[in-house]
Amino acid sequence: MERTFAIIKPDAVAGKKAGQILARIEEAGFTVKGMRLTHLSKAAAEGFYAVHRERPFFGELTDFMSSGPCVLLCLEAPDAIRKWRTLMGATDPAKADAGTLRRDFGTSIGNNATHGSDAPETAAFELGYFFRGMETL
Ligand code: ATP
Ligand code: MG
Repeated sequence: MERTFAIIKPDAVAGKKAGQILARIEEAGFTVKGMRLTHLSKAAAEGFYAVHRERPFFGELTDFMSSGPCVLLCLEAPDAIRKWRTLMGATDPAKADAGTLRRDFGTSIGNNATHGSDAPETAAFELGYFFRGMETL
């Protein structure tokens, strides 16, 4: 078993797509081990995306991620990290495969509906950034 960290981003929550996305997560075989609705502060978004600090879109990205509530998730499945990124699809919804979440719910490369950890080390950092141990038993 493996765990990954996922976010249903503010665009999808505002668009009332969180329920549909959660259904797709469960239908794909993930177990939800932790879940919380939260409105990130700008500082919390900047800390989360610190690896992207030098990227030109950092300000836009952290403004967006702190623009409204999002759903934080700890997901468990065999090969969860890769499996979740496959279900999300490519970063740019226009390039994401048919049947992926970003294709179905994203509207632009910035407003792309979901986040997923990209490696075991980032999953560990991101889960620890948002969840206390007792929240993901
Ligand atoms: P995420 O980390 O959110 O799961 P990702 O791993 O597919 O997405 P990253 O390269 O880590 O993509 O970029 C992080 C996020 O920054 C993207 O999800 C997207 O919302 C935003 N982003 C990436 N590239 C751009 C860009 N060129 N312009 C605007 N926003 C971008
Ligand atoms: Mg990423």
